Order: sequence, then C-alpha cells, then structure tokens
Amino acid sequence: MTCPFGLPDGIPALGGGPDNSKRDGSGKGMGENAIEIEGVTKTYAAAGNQPPKEALAGIDLTIPRGSVFGLLGPNGAGKSTLINILAGLVVKSSGSVRIWGFDQDKNPRQSRASIGVMPQEPNIDPFFTPGALLDVQAGLYGVPKGERRTDEILAMVGLSDKKDAYARHLSGGMRRRLLLAKALVHAPPILVLDEPTAGVDIELRQMLWGQVRKLNEAGTTIILTTHYLEEAEEMCDEIAIIHHGSLLVRDTTSALLSTIDSRTLLITPDGDAPSTITAPEGVDLDRRKGGALAFTYRRAQTSPGDIIDAVRASGITIRDIAIEEAHLEDVFLTLTRAQDAEAPAA
Ligand code: ADP
Ligand code: MG
Repeated sequence: MTCPFGLPDGIPALGGGPDNSKRDGSGKGMGENAIEIEGVTKTYAAAGNQPPKEALAGIDLTIPRGSVFGLLGPNGAGKSTLINILAGLVVKSSGSVRIWGFDQDKNPRQSRASIGVMPQEPNIDPFFTPGALLDVQAGLYGVPKGERRTDEILAMVGLSDKKDAYARHLSGGMRRRLLLAKALVHAPPILVLDEPTAGVDIELRQMLWGQVRKLNEAGTTIILTTHYLEEAEEMCDEIAIIHHGSLLVRDTTSALLSTIDSRTLLITPDGDAPSTITAPEGVDLDRRKGGALAFTYRRAQTSPGDIIDAVRASGITIRDIAIEEAHLEDVFLTLTRAQDAEAPAA
C-alpha cells in the first residue's frame, strides 16, 4: 500500500494518550495552543452555473490544548469548511493554519498526523469490514502493524461484534461509530467532530459524548460542531460562533452565558393564582401549564426579591421557587440577529 504520510519523528503512533512533550513542532510561538488559525479565507470556485462562493471571509482563531471547544453557527456559516481545512480535505484560499505546532503548508504530514476528524458526511467504503477499514486507515497513517489497536478501538465504540461484517450492512448509527473509530486509529492529540450527533438516537448520543469526555480527560483536545446548543453548553469549555464566514465571538461558555441579562423566575403558588397579579415594572408574566408563574426580568433592573414581594402583595402563598438560567441559544440568537440586522445576507 502507498503511504501518503507517515507519522513524524517524535510522534508515538500509539500508546496511552497524547504525549504533549514530544508532539510539539518547532514550538515557536505555539504556547499552549492545539490549533492556530490566522487570516484563513476560502472561496469555492464556480462550478456549472454556480458562481464562486466565499465560505470563509477571514478567520483568526486559537484553540487551547486540552479544551473541549465548540464551533457554532447557523447552517451554511462555514463550520464544515473550516474543519475540512484543518483536516486537509479542503484547500484554503489564503491564511495560515498551525496544528499542534506544525504549519499545515510547511509540515503537511506532521500536521495531519496530529489531528483526527470525524466528518459530517459519512465516507465509508461499503465493501470493507470495520476491521479492514481501520487497518487500511492505520496503514495510511503509517501505524506499524504491531502497534495497531483495531480491537481496542472497535470495543471502545461498541462494534467488536461487527469487526468482520460488511460496512454496507451496518445501521446508520453503527456507521457513525465507525467514523469515530477511523478518526482515532493514529491516536491523534486533537479530535474533531463535525455534527457528530445530528440525527442520531439518544443512546448513541450518550455513547458518543461519554467517549468524547473520556478522551478529553485522557488529554485529547476536542473540537466539535453541533447545532444542538444545549449540547454545546453542556460539553464545551469555550465556544466560537461563526456566521457568514466570519467569527462573531469567541469566549468561555460561562462568560458568554453571563452576557445574557434576562432571567426567568418561576413561582409555583399554593392553590390557584388570582387572575390579576401586579408584576414590577419591566417584568413579563407568563402563566405556565400546571399553574406556575414565570416572571422574566432583567438582572440589571429588577431583583428576584422585588418579584417575590409583588407576588406576596397579590395575596399569593408561594409553594416553590426556581430560577431558569440563560441559555446559549439566547446568546446565539442575540449575536446572529444583531449581525444580520447590520449586514443582511447576500
Ligand atoms: P456549515 O458547515 O456551517 O453548515 P459549510 O462550510 O458546509 O457550512 O458551507 C459554507 C458555505 O459554503 C455554504 O454556503 C455552502 O453552500 C458553501 N459550500 C460548501 N461546500 C461547497 C463546495 N464544495 N462548493 C461550493 N460551495 C460550497
Ligand atoms: Mg457543516
């Protein structure tokens, strides 16, 4: 078999988790970043009657080592384009990308060996068995036969009993697992997952996130895209939102959430609530099914105490109280709508 790229010197093909000390490239200016993206643009060439399409307008982004990093944005924002550039599947139009310290253009083999990608579109040859597929993939990455972990990886994704089944006989969920397995054969220090849970059932989703957490705990840097914002909120330490090929914001998940000023206070009355309740000024009242009263307020303007006082003054005995926190969805909608208002999509 031809071997388009072997593992660079100093990169152990396999073993207990990524060895950071040995995986650094020149190390110059790399610091603790897994990925450094500078001024990256991508314009897809015109094809047929389709005009050229600018998918990335100039992205600067650094992703720290060890993090679980979320890349979010509406459909067509350019997420897969950016990820496919990192994976070496799409050629950028301009800019520079460093992966684990290796410049993608100057050290293509080393930079590729440092990253494993589970793509959005399944790219599995239906005539291969999972066992053979992982073997071929390991060969492509120059992993010596004696060091391949095919059985271990298949067990990890729950496909041990399918090792010798033809890929075309695997269910959609099993193919997703196989894609994850493929991304892991060369034990990359960076794992990228593009919409890994789109359209999968709850069981597979939990399995995927369980594996991702374990890999991250063992030191793997994780980069993922998802359009399930609750998932990003739960999984990611840091988040970048891209929209129309530009970076809108990049911050820790908690900092992004704290930018949302509105909160909802849920009050369950003891018995039926009266039909008129006077809420403090600027507070919205919504009656939920089951009788709970939902007061949405701005933290800068109103305190929960003001609302509780107003409820008591309306003659209500309070049985229970809860606060609904802001969600990433609120941040996402606020930011993307603001940009759309500024510069409507072409
Ligand atoms: P996302 O993953 O955020 O949904 P993509 O990176 O897939 O976004 O797409 C960004 C934009 O580039 C979209 O407008 C899409 O139609 C366009 N695009 C993606 N791939 C190609 C391609 N191979 N040729 C032409 N245009 C493309
Ligand atoms: Mg995509």
